[in-house]
Amino acid sequence: MSDISVHHRACHLCEAICGLTIQTEGERILSIKGDPLDSFSRGHICPKAVALQDIQNDPDRLRHPMRRCGDEWQAIGWDEAYELVAERLAEIRERHGANTVAIYQGNPSVHNYGLMTHSNYFLGLLKTRNRFSATSVDQLPHHLTSHLMYGHGLLLPVPDIDHTDFMLILGGNPLASNGSIMTVPDVEKRLKAIRARGGKLVVVDPRRSETAAIADQHLFVRPGQDAALLFGLLNTLFEEGLTRASELPLDDIEEVRTAIAAFSAEAMSARCGVPAEQIRQLARDFAAADKAVCYGRMGVSTQAFGTLCQWLVQLINLVTGNLDRVGGALCTEPAVDLVETTSGGHFAAWHSRVSQLPEYGGELPVAALAEEMLEPGEGQVRALITVAGNPVLSTPNGRKLEQALDGLEFMLSVDFYINETTRYADVILPPTAPLEHDHYDATFNLLAVRNVTRFN
Ligand code: SF4
Repeated sequence: MSDISVHHRACHLCEAICGLTIQTEGERILSIKGDPLDSFSRGHICPKAVALQDIQNDPDRLRHPMRRCGDEWQAIGWDEAYELVAERLAEIRERHGANTVAIYQGNPSVHNYGLMTHSNYFLGLLKTRNRFSATSVDQLPHHLTSHLMYGHGLLLPVPDIDHTDFMLILGGNPLASNGSIMTVPDVEKRLKAIRARGGKLVVVDPRRSETAAIADQHLFVRPGQDAALLFGLLNTLFEEGLTRASELPLDDIEEVRTAIAAFSAEAMSARCGVPAEQIRQLARDFAAADKAVCYGRMGVSTQAFGTLCQWLVQLINLVTGNLDRVGGALCTEPAVDLVETTSGGHFAAWHSRVSQLPEYGGELPVAALAEEMLEPGEGQVRALITVAGNPVLSTPNGRKLEQALDGLEFMLSVDFYINETTRYADVILPPTAPLEHDHYDATFNLLAVRNVTRFN
C-alpha cells in the first residue's frame, strides 16, 4: 500500500512565507511545489524552497549534539551535552559575572516560532547585557524610528502594495529579496499590477537593480546620500504646499518644517546627485497620486544615516496623508500580535563596554561583538552562545570575529551545521530541521501586506 501524502507548509526561508505543498512517501520527499490554493502567495515559489529537501536529506546536517576535542568532533548524548553546557556557563558567570556571557541570535530565529516564544526562557535567564543579533546589520533603524515616533519598535507600517497608485522604493530590491519589512510573496506580479492599474513605480538606487529595471522611473542616487534626497522631497512637499491633512494626531510637525527649511531640493541636489527639478517633480507626482507610499529598505538602513532615512520615509507618508490609509502605509492586525504582547522597547538604557555604543531593545550593535571579546578588562566577554547564526560570514569584520571566537573560554552553538562560526564552538546542539516541526510565522504575519494567518 502506498503511503504518499501531501503536506501544506509555509516556506520559512525568507520573509515572503510562500505556501508550499510537499508530497512525501514515508520519509522521502517526492516534490515541493508552490501551493496554488494559498490565498496569500497564490502558488508562487522560488528555487530556494525546492532546496529544502537538500537540508532535510543532507548527510552533513547534525543529528546529535557534538563536542569539539581539539580539531576533532565527537557525537555525545543530550544529557551529557546539557550537563556540560550548564556546568561551563554557570562556572564562567560565577567567576566573571553575568555580562561576560554573550548571546548572538541569527536571522532564522524570527522564522521559528519555537525560538520566538521559548528561547528567552533560557537566554533571558543568563541576564547578560551583551546580547546581539542580526537586527543591527539589517533593520534596526526601522525599529528605532517606530519606537521613537509611534511608541513601539514593532509598530511598523507596511506598504499597501495591492492598492497603491504610486510606490516609491529607496534602497530596496524586492525582486531579489522577495520583500523585506514587507512580507509580500509573488512581489514581481504585485509590482507590475501597480502599473497595470495605471499607477507608477519609482525606484531610487545607486545601482540599476532588478526592481529598478521594471520601474517607470529610476533615479540614481549617490551612495549613502538618500537622506539628502528625502530631505529635498519633504522640503518640497512643505514649500510647495503639497501636504495633505491627516486624521492622525501629529505633534511637532511645524518644528520639523522649520528644522528642514534650509534643505531645499536645490541644496540637497548637490549632495545626492539627483537634479533638483527631478526631486521637485517626484514630490509633486507623489503628492498628486490619490494613494501613494514611500518605502525604504536595507540600502537606506545599513548606512551612516539609516535612522534619519527611515524617519524621513515615515514623515513623507505622514504629511501626504498616506500613513494608516488604504493604498498607503498600513499596520497589520495579526492573529498573534507582537505589538500587543511585547514591550515597546527602550533605547540607550546601557552602552557597550568598549565603544560605548547604545543598546536598542536589549541588544547592542553586533559590530561591537568582537571587541567585547578581545579587549581585556573587567566585563570582557569570555563565553558566547550563538543560535541559528553564522556571524563570521554575516557581520562586519568576520576575520576579527574569528580571532575573538578562538580566544573564548567556552562557546555553545545551537545549529545543525558545523560552519564558519560554529566550528569554534565547544558544544553544538542541533535542532530539528525545518520540515520536522510545526510552524507559525509569528513575525512575518505582522509585516505582511495582507492580514493573514497560517499554522502548519
Ligand atoms: S520567495 Fe522566499 S518564502 Fe517564497 S519560496 Fe522563495 S525562499 Fe521561500
